[in-house]
Amino acid sequence: MKKLHFTFILVSALIMHTAFSQNQETPPVRLEKISGNLYEILDGRGSNGGAYIGDNGILVIDAKMDMESVDQTISELKKITDKPILYLVNTHSDGDHIDGNRFFPESVTIIAHENCRNDFFRPKRDGSPSDWNDPELAPFTPELTFSEKMDIYLGFKKVELRYFGTGHTTGDLVVYIPEEKTVFLGDQLFLTRPQLIHSYKGGNSFEHVATLNRMLETLDAEKFASGHSEICSREDIHQHLIQIQELQKKVMIMVEQNKSLDEVKGNFEENEARLVTSVYNEVKEIED
Ligand SMILES: [Zn+2]
Repeated sequence: MKKLHFTFILVSALIMHTAFSQNQETPPVRLEKISGNLYEILDGRGSNGGAYIGDNGILVIDAKMDMESVDQTISELKKITDKPILYLVNTHSDGDHIDGNRFFPESVTIIAHENCRNDFFRPKRDGSPSDWNDPELAPFTPELTFSEKMDIYLGFKKVELRYFGTGHTTGDLVVYIPEEKTVFLGDQLFLTRPQLIHSYKGGNSFEHVATLNRMLETLDAEKFASGHSEICSREDIHQHLIQIQELQKKVMIMVEQNKSLDEVKGNFEENEARLVTSVYNEVKEIED
């Protein structure tokens, strides 16, 4: 009897533990209002995204990365509007922003920068072919692309897609919602950990600085949402750029002193190793 009781406790503890850790790993998708009809899409599996509810339909920014998270996104949106999702914008080609594309209805028009669409079909980092070459996935790759600028009107509500240049990859776009003075940057901004630069996708840390400066000069936005950080201000972005430039300067001095990559990395925090490697290779003009 005692043994049975113990087993029961053990089994319930296990069930509770499993339920708890699942919850811990992926809290369900939720929408957080930024202002007006503009929301940030948080939690679930994948990056933070956005949703702008226009007069005739919704534009979603970035796709999460599994069916459950996309279903949750769609049902959270249904709680606040019965308007259809018309557009899905991919800010760039990383899996945590595009893998969910395939779980959106086929009627949704997918939009990306032209370089981002090319990146869909690029071999993976290990050289294996991209899943997106599968013809069944063709309807979920970007159908509309642009090079510099594309305006989308949701009735009277305007969304501006802009391209300011290379940085995190060569295909990162900026989504600007003028009425709310808010920008979505995708992964062009990391505030809580060092900036990610995908050198293997043509990314470049020096161009990242120039690209973000161009963005700040061009758009009179006040709020900046991004894939993996809290919403921030212009000043936060200036600080982010100053930090990167200080890191770049330190690396350049050490390269001049003929230090090896390992010696250079030894002078930085462990979590800065990837960014330091990118900068080192850029300064030495080593191809990734
Ligand atoms: Zn991301």
